[in-house]
Order: sequence, then structure tokens, then C-alpha cells
Amino acid sequence: MTAHDTAAVLDALLAEYGARANAIRRDLGRSHSADFAEQAQQRQNDEVLEALLAEAEAAMRQVGLAKQRLAEGRYGECQRCFEPIEAGRLEALPAAEFCLRCADLS
Ligand SMILES: [Zn+2]
Repeated sequence: MTAHDTAAVLDALLAEYGARANAIRRDLGRSHSADFAEQAQQRQNDEVLEALLAEAEAAMRQVGLAKQRLAEGRYGECQRCFEPIEAGRLEALPAAEFCLRCADLS
């Protein structure tokens, strides 16, 4: 994969997570029912949504860091041992920060 392809993959991922985060924020912003039992259910749903939002935001940060490494010519370098991350792993997880060995350690 060339650096250009990698940039396109990372941008697509960022857009995907961004769209997901926006959809969740929209859901969280909706008005709540006046019914007490329904409100309790909605609060539970909100907790799930907030966890999903945090997950999407963390993923966006991770992709952002991968883009930064790409710009600096350090993309695909393990952030722990600085060895190259396995190609198959990067294909599956384009924003991977650690090689397989280091990911297993954490
Ligand atoms: Zn490593």
C-alpha cells in the first residue's frame, strides 16, 4: 500500500467514525419522554450511547495520530518497540499503534 492509499484509508476511517459520532450525538440530543418509566429506559439507552460515543471519539483520536505518523514518515512503526508493524495487521487495523507482540503485552 502506498502512502497515498494509506492516507485515503485513514481519511475514510475518520469520516466513518465522525459520521457515527455525529449520529450518536443527534440521538443523545433528542428530547426525552414525559413518562417516568420511559425516562428511566431512555437514561439507560443514553449510557450505552455515551459509551459508544466515547469509543468513536477514541477511534478518531487514534486515526488522527496514525495520520500524523504518516505525515512524519513514521506510519506503521510500533509505538512501543519501534519495529515495523506487520502488514496484515495494518491492513486489518490501519490505525494500529503497536505490533502484534507489543499489543499482546498491553
Ligand atoms: Zn512493538
